[in-house]
Amino acid sequence: MIRIALQAKGRLNEDSLKLMKEAGINFDDAKRKLLSKSNDFPIEVLYLRDDDIPQAVAAGVADIGFVGINEIEEKGADVKVIHKLGWGKCRISLAIPKTEEYSGIEYFNGKRIATSYPKILKKFCDENNIVAEVEEIAGSVEIAPAVGMADAIFDIVSSGSTLVSNGLKEVYTVMNSEAAVIANPNLTDEKQALLDQLLFRFESVERSKGQKYILLNIPNDNINDALSILPSMKSPTLLPLAQPGWSSIHAVVSQKLIWDKIEQLKKIGAEDILVLSLEMMVL
Ligand code: ATP
Ligand code: MG
Repeated sequence: MIRIALQAKGRLNEDSLKLMKEAGINFDDAKRKLLSKSNDFPIEVLYLRDDDIPQAVAAGVADIGFVGINEIEEKGADVKVIHKLGWGKCRISLAIPKTEEYSGIEYFNGKRIATSYPKILKKFCDENNIVAEVEEIAGSVEIAPAVGMADAIFDIVSSGSTLVSNGLKEVYTVMNSEAAVIANPNLTDEKQALLDQLLFRFESVERSKGQKYILLNIPNDNINDALSILPSMKSPTLLPLAQPGWSSIHAVVSQKLIWDKIEQLKKIGAEDILVLSLEMMVL
């Protein structure tokens, strides 16, 4: 049995549950139970606030977890970052009132900076010989300069629209973050084996993202042209059709290229083109 800590509610919750489900693991959501056991896999899900996940994994209360790299850094928890998940992307940046002129990071010398990430900010200031006053606040950081609580902020940014609507401009990105799978550094062999099994499933699901499965019929004379258009995992599948002189080709194509490929295939006589979603790619 392995225990995973997931965010109970918030920005990482939905993608965390989706990935577990796509990996074939179902359990109750946080509205019903804060600790829930799956029937499909020897795993228990512990729902926590994201701030508490690094500590819970470091202490072995949970064996593994999904959490933002930003929270791991801020908490300085002793956990291993096993696998970056590619979602929950954001950056932690310094921002100042938009009317201020920005000269470079020396600007922050002698300034008061409001943040919910004091550790990351202090480390950045020390590394860059900036002497600033760090004002720690838990939320509503963006409003701090307007109400005279600080001269600048250090906060999470994704689109930047919250900054703009609070009269601020982003001037320096200190770190980029995304969600990651973390693990306690001292897992037993049994738990490590379960984690490896989970990672194999997560990677198979991730590999299929942005990929489509394409099937088409083609006159036999044009098979080579079609094969040169279509990439594949090994080589495309080629099957004879009942109708003489025709074959069917199956291949996996990146979603970004799919229309381009369809147009090229139609030009060489492809017919009955089907494009299907892929759920996982197991190599
Ligand atoms: P909790 O109640 O669990 O403590 P929270 O309010 O601290 O939740 P959320 O806003 O749900 O946190 O964000 C969780 C994580 O999602 C962040 O720590 C960060 O890693 C990631 N994230 C991605 N984009 C954003 C964004 N635009 N704003 C805030 N967090 C983001
Ligand atoms: Mg939090």
